[in-house]
Amino acid sequence: MTTINKTKCIGCGACVSVCSDGFEMGEDGKAKVKNAKAPCVKEAIESCPVDAIK
Ligand code: SF4
Repeated sequence: MTTINKTKCIGCGACVSVCSDGFEMGEDGKAKVKNAKAPCVKEAIESCPVDAIK
């Protein structure tokens, strides 16, 4: 299951840019998972500068 480590996430938005089907920005300014089954999730994991997506 895909999860975001909110402690690590710096809210840069890269995952949302790369994969808007899979991620969105939450009200706390950090990313959240919208659809863990989106095909682009893998690219988003690679795009995260702080390795916050698991
Ligand atoms: S790419 Fe990583 S640090 Fe940036 S918003 Fe997404 S989860 Fe957070």
